[in-house]
Amino acid sequence: MQSRYNDYFGEFGGRYVAEVLRGPLDELQHEFCAAFDDPEFHADLERVRDQFIGRPTPLLHAVNTSTELGGAQIYVKLEGLANTGAHKINNAVGQALLAKRMGKRRVIAETGAGQHGVATAAVCATLGLECTVYMGEVDRRRQRPNVFWMELYGAQVVPVRSGAQTLKDAVNEALRDWAASFADTHYLIGSALGPSPFPDMVREFQAVVGRETQQQLAEHGLTPAALIACVGGGSNAIGFFEPYLESETPRLIGVEAGGRGIETGAHAARMLGLGRTGILQGYKSKFLLSEDGQVAATHSVSAGLDYPGIGPQLAHLGESGRVEFRRAADAQALEALRAFARNEGVIFALESAHAAAAAMELAPQLPSESVIVVNMSGRGDKDLFITARELAPEAWKTFLSEEEASL
Ligand SMILES: *Cc1c(COP(=O)(O)O)cnc(C)c1O
Repeated sequence: MQSRYNDYFGEFGGRYVAEVLRGPLDELQHEFCAAFDDPEFHADLERVRDQFIGRPTPLLHAVNTSTELGGAQIYVKLEGLANTGAHKINNAVGQALLAKRMGKRRVIAETGAGQHGVATAAVCATLGLECTVYMGEVDRRRQRPNVFWMELYGAQVVPVRSGAQTLKDAVNEALRDWAASFADTHYLIGSALGPSPFPDMVREFQAVVGRETQQQLAEHGLTPAALIACVGGGSNAIGFFEPYLESETPRLIGVEAGGRGIETGAHAARMLGLGRTGILQGYKSKFLLSEDGQVAATHSVSAGLDYPGIGPQLAHLGESGRVEFRRAADAQALEALRAFARNEGVIFALESAHAAAAAMELAPQLPSESVIVVNMSGRGDKDLFITARELAPEAWKTFLSEEEASL
């Protein structure tokens, strides 16, 4: 079994924070371990997963796509059917229940594209917690619909106007808040990164995705040859892979954002030699850095993969070889999104479409009795403003101008 609390993964991970945050992180580590040994906590978690998230999510046999490609059978874990549309809710629910157990009345979170902010705001609404979400001003403008949803759930969305005014700056602001407020506030980090114990804790809360998938495969008598997930910070991938980390099979494949192509520099691929080891925002891992060691600008058509750092455990599993890394470019992700919509009636989130693209590449190389499973970490409704502009630009432009004229 994967150990629940690791702190370090090879040379990666750790807890590189200001002195003032050591106490709250110790407290969190203690409570996280205690909660996981407490049947009452698991009963609460089960109830919220069942009634609020809508678990278990289905496992779909993508028959038409598999037949068309003429290779392995592709199965899709439809994590995007969870409430709020993505896997992020699994972690938000787990940490919010932990916050309640610790007697906190307030939750703070950072968000980039807004998906983690939406999940956190929704959970805080149902559990009666006060919620503040830090969001870079640039992201707030780009992702206006998600700000609307967060506010509707009753959260306060605070614009961050320092630095590049994006996710990294929102994390700094949330850490600053927490250093002054931890007595009654929990900081709910959105991916499997940050200072220990967050990478371990987020993996454990996301492992429900992998365990359900393992059980659903077993019910159908299937043994997977490969599992494929997209990798931003790494939470959907590490949760999906978790039951298999200690065994040699199946192949575990993480897919990073190839953006406009590695040679253009406009990408977010940190593995396969592109990232450098560094320490940022409390943890040691692989980061995309510029020549002079500054955090580099990244690009992906999917906001959730557009991030310079990768979770420490995945960085380690990449170096050890247990997890293989691949890349999918913006155009490949859009193509996969279109293929699965037409063939299967399922619209992938742009992030998850990177994993779908890798599956479409791998399937024809494998025999037709082998099975590969793709994690559809989210559904694509949230991406309408990007997808429609890319795939049907004229119709979309007409729609927008008619909408504006009608105001
Ligand atoms: C945020 C997000 C991701 C990327 O985050 P990970 O921590 O790497 O999982 C992937 N897919 C969706 C749908 C997301 O919202």
